[in-house]
Amino acid sequence: MLTNQYEQGRTFMGRLDYKTDLLEEINKICIKENIKTGFINIIGAVSSLKTGFFDQEKKQYIHTVHQSQTPLEISSCMGNVSLKNGKPFCHIHIVASDRKGLCYGGHLMDETTVYAAEYIIQETIGEELVRELDEETKLPLWK
Ligand code: ZN
Repeated sequence: MLTNQYEQGRTFMGRLDYKTDLLEEINKICIKENIKTGFINIIGAVSSLKTGFFDQEKKQYIHTVHQSQTPLEISSCMGNVSLKNGKPFCHIHIVASDRKGLCYGGHLMDETTVYAAEYIIQETIGEELVRELDEETKLPLWK
């Protein structure tokens, strides 16, 4: 188990541009502002969604759910920021709902297109959290 304690750092709130890539834009903000640790919260809507699913038996992302060209609400989207390969890296999960309220969710991947998105990034100050490949799970986990 790993437990660190943090102080509150800077708080960023803003809106992403229409037709941009959700994950890429959030990563860009964290790199630009040099946010090394923190947490992320996003609501809004996407015009296409791509999520990943990690197969625990095969130990790889084998299944990608891709709701191409389907407008969806971002019902919940949260994640964290830590360091991977020496750079700020965002790990984000998303739940998005269609017009019936049915939800799709998973690990947010590139190629999720913003229709409208409002974000909050809360920086935390303290021990660096660094992702490294974990041999047991084959995931890049905090060490
Ligand atoms: Zn994930």
